[in-house]
Amino acid sequence: MSKFVAKRIQNLKPSATLTLSARVKALSAAGEKIVDLSLGEPDFNTPDYICEAAIAAIKAGNNKYTPVGGTLELKNAIISKLKRENNLSYTPTQIIASAGAKQALFNLFLAILNPGDEVIIPAPFWVSYPEMITIAEATPILVKTNPTNHFKITAEELEKAITPKSKLLILNSPSNPTGNIYNKKELQALATVLLKYPNVLIVTDDIYEHIYWGSEPFCNIVMTCPELSDRTIVINGVSKAYAMTGWRLGYAAGPAEIINNMTTLQSQSTSNPCSITQAAATAALTGDQSFVTKMKQEFKRRYDYLFQALSSLPGFEIKPCHGAFYIFPNIEQAIKQLPNINNDVEFAELLIKEAKVAILPGSAFGYPGYVRFSYATTIDNLQQAVKQIAQVLGKK
Ligand code: PMP
Ligand code: GLU
Repeated sequence: MSKFVAKRIQNLKPSATLTLSARVKALSAAGEKIVDLSLGEPDFNTPDYICEAAIAAIKAGNNKYTPVGGTLELKNAIISKLKRENNLSYTPTQIIASAGAKQALFNLFLAILNPGDEVIIPAPFWVSYPEMITIAEATPILVKTNPTNHFKITAEELEKAITPKSKLLILNSPSNPTGNIYNKKELQALATVLLKYPNVLIVTDDIYEHIYWGSEPFCNIVMTCPELSDRTIVINGVSKAYAMTGWRLGYAAGPAEIINNMTTLQSQSTSNPCSITQAAATAALTGDQSFVTKMKQEFKRRYDYLFQALSSLPGFEIKPCHGAFYIFPNIEQAIKQLPNINNDVEFAELLIKEAKVAILPGSAFGYPGYVRFSYATTIDNLQQAVKQIAQVLGKK
């Protein structure tokens, strides 16, 4: 190990999602034909009205630093969105815009966590949460959830995980990687526990809010229980809802003190998010929202296809889910039927090497025995993937 490696980097895992996606791109550049179901990013183009706003911002000379936490126009657009869609009220001092929801989360963790603090993360979880918590020198407490409860932490499991060191609970709904959603009743049960522990903060990662087709309207914990608003941070962004992953714009809304500390931190790292992106995101949040509905309908169509198709593969067990363009099947039986394959990591490796389909092992999300399919791609690609996987499974 080089003497120039900082301790905090030595055990840091690279993002499994981004690593696999880079591997697929390298394989494709070398001439291999891989069906890429690895990355969770909408395959649609950013809508024209948003691109036009960015072009107008460039032409108008919006090429200077902006306030660190975002322009007032953007903050007001975020505030209107949170009022309109979530019935939540914020002032500009309670909002920070960052380079993606990822940076907003990173800022948050560094701004609130101390060494020894515990962060409760229901597993399976998005790959970046535990690593970011570790960078912040706090301790991830991974709570394995039950598939029979659709991988959602129950009030009992939450209460058991809370200790005097607990500082933060992470909720992500719709969930990456399971596509499941906490309903109002479940959130109310969690809130009842949390109300007993005033030292525990809550972050609700709502990045997949609009990729959702459940029967109840979307809800998060602070919408369910406004009493928790003084210790809940809402994270969201434009990456998924408006197909803007590359533009890098996410935001946090929460108590002014925490947002202020996050802003101080950001002032010493990246400063403001890109000024042009901010103009585009303002247009996205304030403009015609019909794109969001159309994209959602298309994701639902793909989900319907993939759910049926994967359910018919030997050894795949899947429960219905309602959003976030991921399906998370149990493949333990499929593994048993395959000689020389012992776990989900080897299974995913087999699929990329032999079926030429890239998916992620559940282990990357803290949940072995499962795999994650992203269906943020065309139905043709999904059909191709299922055909190739079926061939490989049939051969063994
Ligand atoms: N949260 C979750 C659960 C995610 O899957 C992602 C993936 N992009 C993010 C946050 C970060 O999104 P972005 O930085 O693109 O806004
Ligand atoms: N969140 C997406 C995924 O899980 C994008 C990549 C990332 O940031 O992890 O695939």
